[in-house]
Amino acid sequence: MQIVRTVADLRKTVNDWRSAGLRVALVPTMGALHQGHLSLVEAARARADRVVASIFVNPKQFGPNEDLSRYPRQEEKDAQMLEGAGCDVLFLPTVEEMYPEGFATNISVSGVSSGLCGDDRPGHFDGVATVVTKLLNMARPDIAIFGEKDFQQLAVIRRFVTDLNMGIEIIGAPIVREADGLAMSSRNAYLSAEQRAIAGALPNVLAQVRDQIAGGADVAAALASGTQALLEAGFAKVDYLELRDAASLAPLPALDREARLFVAARLGTTRLIDNLAVQPVLA
Ligand code: AMP
Repeated sequence: MQIVRTVADLRKTVNDWRSAGLRVALVPTMGALHQGHLSLVEAARARADRVVASIFVNPKQFGPNEDLSRYPRQEEKDAQMLEGAGCDVLFLPTVEEMYPEGFATNISVSGVSSGLCGDDRPGHFDGVATVVTKLLNMARPDIAIFGEKDFQQLAVIRRFVTDLNMGIEIIGAPIVREADGLAMSSRNAYLSAEQRAIAGALPNVLAQVRDQIAGGADVAAALASGTQALLEAGFAKVDYLELRDAASLAPLPALDREARLFVAARLGTTRLIDNLAVQPVLA
């Protein structure tokens, strides 16, 4: 696996591949890799001839009180994991390479970015949309793979790639989970043993609420009892537990179309997110 740190080197490699008629996939990450990330590399390998993964902890998507400075970093281990997964190039830019002096552009997506994490993390999706636009323009891949773990992020990315006619196919990959169902996340490393035990309640409660709603229960009542169950399990705060339209992400008071159930909850200073598909009840 080749490691490149500049846009010029990345472009040169990808241009050579493309002139040879090879199909290129991009997998953007912030590092501290786990099986969830590696599943994206596998999905990329299944659909393309060459795979570029990027690791960049993007300052623009962290709020002033968020975990930018303590975000886990393990460059060497990440590189080994990517190589083992069959990645061809690892793009590891510096902050200066990504945001040179004078940088002044912001990509802002309305609609799908409002509510859910958009409310709790002001500016977060602008930061994501801006950095992903840059990474897509730098690598110019045929396809790019993102996890459904960050379902709202995936919806934001699909929106601007369509709106800006970027001509890149965006693929969503299923959530990879730990044995107890907790969605894998680099942020799980922040959890104490006690918090980690409580965290297992998140996917369980989410699945219970999904089953209730899919079984015809009143949506508001199911969401309220799910929130209560999370607090009783030991979560300090539930930022949201909401049912939304799976495509537009508009709030859904009743299950009358393809839906997605979203949750964000806090254990100490760590914020965990998860989501599940909810199929409409057949008439
Ligand atoms: P991150 O490094 O957290 O920015 O994530 C990089 C990519 O990996 C994003 O597309 C995430 O949605 C995806 N990802 C993170 N965790 C998981 C997971 N447990 N399963 C599938 N994809 C994931």
